[in-house]
Amino acid sequence: MNRQQATNPNSPPMHRAGSATSRSPEGIASAPFWLETLVEAKEDGELAAMCCSLEPGTVTHWHTHPLGQILYALSGVGMVQRQGGAIEEMRAGDCVTFAPGEAHRHGAAPSSTFAYISIQGRENGSAVTWLRAEIETGGEP
Ligand code: MN
Repeated sequence: MNRQQATNPNSPPMHRAGSATSRSPEGIASAPFWLETLVEAKEDGELAAMCCSLEPGTVTHWHTHPLGQILYALSGVGMVQRQGGAIEEMRAGDCVTFAPGEAHRHGAAPSSTFAYISIQGRENGSAVTWLRAEIETGGEP
């Protein structure tokens, strides 16, 4: 990557609210959630940014990010869990970092909606790897 360039040189300089809102893809969480792409990573090494809004109890399946991830809580009460670790609560203003390849999941607390911004880098065409389906049962990867 050319260090003289902006992070995502091909992305629009401004994202307009509501211009890229969609439902999450099937099979990545316990229920669909709202997902707004703020910055699209079009090339490897670029950062993607999303704003996600989850209903109470909606939790992602276990996954990893090739270049790690930053989560910033905007509203409500959420949760994060790392492989082998306890469930940790996340509230507005909290910021969580996951290391590259670290297995984890995140979502809304059982009794609260949760909205957050996520930032993750793209490598080999993807910014996320979803782990095995049996993880959905609540077990660990
Ligand atoms: Mn993640």
